[in-house]
Amino acid sequence: MADVLIVGGGPAGMMAGLLFARAGIPTKVVEKHADFFRDFRGDTVHPSTMEILDQLGLLDRFLGRQHNRIDKARIRIEERDWTIGDLSHLDTPAPFIAMMPQWDFLDFLRSEAAKYPTFELAMEEGVAGFIRGGERITGIRYASGREEVAGKLVVACDGRASLVRTLGLLPVETLGAPMDVLWFRLPKNDDGRDALRGSVQPGRMVVLIDRDDYWQVAFLIAKGSEAEVRARGLDWLRSEVRDAFPDADLGGALQSDDDVKLLSVAVDRLKSWSRPGLLAIGDAAHAMSPIGGIGINLAIQDAVAAANLLAGPIRAGKAVDPLLDRVRKRRLFPTRLIQAGQVAAQDNIIGRVLGGGAVRAPWPVKLLDRIPLLRRIPGRIVGLGVRREEVLSPNAFPSII
Ligand SMILES: Cc1cc2nc3c(=O)[nH]c(=O)nc-3n(C[C@H](O)[C@H](O)[C@H](O)COP(=O)(O)OP(=O)(O)OC[C@H]3O[C@@H](n4cnc5c(N)ncnc54)[C@H](O)[C@@H]3O)c2cc1C
Repeated sequence: MADVLIVGGGPAGMMAGLLFARAGIPTKVVEKHADFFRDFRGDTVHPSTMEILDQLGLLDRFLGRQHNRIDKARIRIEERDWTIGDLSHLDTPAPFIAMMPQWDFLDFLRSEAAKYPTFELAMEEGVAGFIRGGERITGIRYASGREEVAGKLVVACDGRASLVRTLGLLPVETLGAPMDVLWFRLPKNDDGRDALRGSVQPGRMVVLIDRDDYWQVAFLIAKGSEAEVRARGLDWLRSEVRDAFPDADLGGALQSDDDVKLLSVAVDRLKSWSRPGLLAIGDAAHAMSPIGGIGINLAIQDAVAAANLLAGPIRAGKAVDPLLDRVRKRRLFPTRLIQAGQVAAQDNIIGRVLGGGAVRAPWPVKLLDRIPLLRRIPGRIVGLGVRREEVLSPNAFPSII
């Protein structure tokens, strides 16, 4: 029997699985998909996450996988590029953002976690609900109807549509988002000098993410406008992309409506992240907007904090329920701060742009572009976040690195 049952094998679930297993606690991660190969998860691995990988002795192997590096943040407004962030001076083992498709990152975590005899991963196993003993959550119920009891704890890492929300187990506070994202691919024929490109014009925001042999396109639309945008047709979408990036190669791209997926953006958080026997972390506890590419890294830090606070006591056989709220208390401050920044950017820039408003570089953008030293501040916030986590949970297998 697993002592810790983790629902969801995204960044939060895989890192939590690795850390609890590393602490010598029998741990099982249950993921509903058959593989990690979904392209809607975002690609950014920040210095804060690589610091954690370094503490675990995994950084060199991680960087041995194919990735691109970004150490400057640029935004294109009014037909020119503005440099608004610089990570290259950060005092950290990897002072850049590693752009790696998330399925590679998750596969990396899986392969490292699998080295621990206490780690188990069940793929293609959807969880449909929880089992209870009175008020306490004592295990999970699979979609097949089978039930599995957790020795100590169930951790919900099942993202923004988490069962803890849909089953009404933990109440949610919605902060809102004015946009959704249309997600599609373009051919890529150049040498990929820019791992990330963005274009902001009245009524339109488009981001290109380098995925080595193709561009992943994030085309922002006003929330709820998918049907209206799709009705304009694929030719319209093609011409919008061509306007945004005149050098883009559209040959063979966007052949059918199915090539375009809708990603719904949400910013919210749970009022309480736990109840007896159950803890929620990552997007399950706080859905993040793509702004700043921070969600993955926040989810990883939640996992580190949860293991720091709970793995030792679980191993020592202590009661875990009275400790669960400490995870929320530890992680609420960075979550609140980053969500506030995302909401401000949404309201002041994205909402206005998508509404067709004039697009002028705001003064902070101009100031950052002009004074290189100042760019280190946003570089630090985006790269290292606030309240960095350090791996303090026990390592029961020091010979395994
Ligand atoms: C359009 C968009 C782009 C983004 N881009 C970025 C980016 O570039 N960088 C960044 O840092 N953040 C980005 N984010 C935010 C980021 O995706 C999330 O913050 C992050 O993925 C959260 O990780 P998680 O592990 O908590 O949840 P998720 O990544 O959502 O993982 C949840 C996992 O649980 C599984 N699951 C769900 N339900 C069940 C169930 N019932 N049973 C079993 N398994 C289940 C899912 O299949 C999934 O694997 C983006 C968000 C959006 C909307």
